[in-house]
Amino acid sequence: MQPMGYIYRYMDLANFKDKARRKKKPLIEFLQKLDDIVPHDMHELVAKVDATVWQDTNCTSCANCCKTMTPTFTNADIKRISAHLTMTTATFKEKWLKKEETGEWVNTTQPCQFLVDDKCSIYEVRPADCAEFPHHDKKPFDAYNETFINNVMHCPATFTLVDRLKKIVERDYEW
Ligand code: SF4
Ligand code: SF4
Repeated sequence: MQPMGYIYRYMDLANFKDKARRKKKPLIEFLQKLDDIVPHDMHELVAKVDATVWQDTNCTSCANCCKTMTPTFTNADIKRISAHLTMTTATFKEKWLKKEETGEWVNTTQPCQFLVDDKCSIYEVRPADCAEFPHHDKKPFDAYNETFINNVMHCPATFTLVDRLKKIVERDYEW
């Protein structure tokens, strides 16, 4: 969901899924440990490693988040997107969304109905959740461990970030 501004690189999703399956357990254990032990310069470290991730990641040949996950739609998102599509918010919800027990509006099906030829057809008005995905710049990083634990199997960028962070932290920090 970050489709602009980085070097072209073909994303091999079959290879990613295979790697993610193999490394899922140690990466999740690393993120869980981050709940208890947080390197003092975690934010700087994440920013530095994340910059390398986007040199090796091309969302436009991936779109795996849009294919396999759902964003949450806020009321402001629903209003904005419905207006863009010239439909009422009620019709929009009825056509594409369901309400979770948590009260959040999410897509009823995956891939997302707005994904066309691996691109977002409502990019300018997409949900805030999509615009902020994959949330690597959230602060403090460890407060979003549950999100990253879930996303590590869906997003090659998050997978690469956590994999690289794990290697550095285990090598350079008392851990
Ligand atoms: S709204 Fe666009 S960016 Fe968000 S999941 Fe759907 S296709 Fe992807
Ligand atoms: S899954 Fe991650 S790498 Fe793939 S398009 Fe979405 S944000 Fe980009």
